[in-house]
Amino acid sequence: SKSWTMVKHFEGVPKLEDFKLIEKELPPLEDGEVLLESVFWSVDPYMRPYSKTALKEGDVMMGTQVARVTESKNPSFTVGDYYVAQSGWTTHFISDGKKLRALPSNWPESLPRSLALGAVGMPGVTAYIGLKQICDPKPGEVLLVNSAAGAVGTIVGQIAKIKGCKVVGSAGSDDKVAYLKSIGFDEAFNYKTVGSLEEALKKASPEGYDCYFEHVGGKFADAAHQQMKDFGRIAVCGCISMYNDTIPQTGPYIQPLLLFKQLRMEGFLIFRYEDKPIYEEAQKQLLEWILEGKVKYHEHITNGFENMPAGFIGMLNGENTGKAIIKA
Ligand code: NDP
Repeated sequence: SKSWTMVKHFEGVPKLEDFKLIEKELPPLEDGEVLLESVFWSVDPYMRPYSKTALKEGDVMMGTQVARVTESKNPSFTVGDYYVAQSGWTTHFISDGKKLRALPSNWPESLPRSLALGAVGMPGVTAYIGLKQICDPKPGEVLLVNSAAGAVGTIVGQIAKIKGCKVVGSAGSDDKVAYLKSIGFDEAFNYKTVGSLEEALKKASPEGYDCYFEHVGGKFADAAHQQMKDFGRIAVCGCISMYNDTIPQTGPYIQPLLLFKQLRMEGFLIFRYEDKPIYEEAQKQLLEWILEGKVKYHEHITNGFENMPAGFIGMLNGENTGKAIIKA
């Protein structure tokens, strides 16, 4: 089995030298165990902030994969079946089956199983739950999402369209902006070239925003909070512009805005919902919308486990449109 370890805690943007490939022989299976082979891995922004506290130098990088059972000494698991596992950046691993999540039943042959890490997996479910529990968008309302061309953002925007909203998205390249328009965003802009964020946000929706699905934080958030309408709802899902900071950013204090506009702002972590019925509800609904053509997906595939660190760094640098996936 091959694994990528984090040899050194990241300082600023992660570098290729921070990772090391190791190889080890796995022991024979014991009763109750299964051997799995990873076929797709997910690279996600959370790995950057979480590595600080969850990993020691030399540990295998954390992460999720779609893996196929290749040997089974557990009657509940059949060779050839696919599962989502949380076994880190590893090619082969042994499991007692407890933490394996079956792909939604009747997985259609027409869809790649990598979607269980993206539009029908954790990022899609994050979009579904954050919108439903926090933003609760109503028909005719205006929703803003940043990092909009990414794994979560693309799904947030499309669900909000299904709910009857006007949807505005920002992303870091003109190609991404064009992609957002192609999947139904009403307005989209390139935050890197737009000049004034305030003007861009006003132009995209002169009347302001009812819902803000936050992925970026920092200066973008400061500008967006100013444009919220009274009684607006802000779902704080991520703050990727702050993950690589070595010195914490300070910003304007937002209490007066929250107070006088009577805004609601709530952070949430998807891990809280992993064992809750809403997780499966979300997966079922997302799969249905995808099969009906109401939700489109895009994947940015990096080929080869050996390129996993580069794929991770590339995602943090914005190389991906849609979900960043590593393929075996
Ligand atoms: P994405 O697919 O959106 O990939 C990350 C994107 O972030 C890049 O493509 C890049 O796009 C953008 N980005 C990188 N650096 C910056 C920066 N300095 N300023 C603005 N944008 C930047 O990732 P996900 O969809 O998986 O995640 C999006 C956000 O949601 C992240 O903040 C993540 O931590 C969070 N998240 C939170 C969860 C939760 O449980 N709360 C669960 C899943 C994700 P661009 O070209 O547009 O800059």
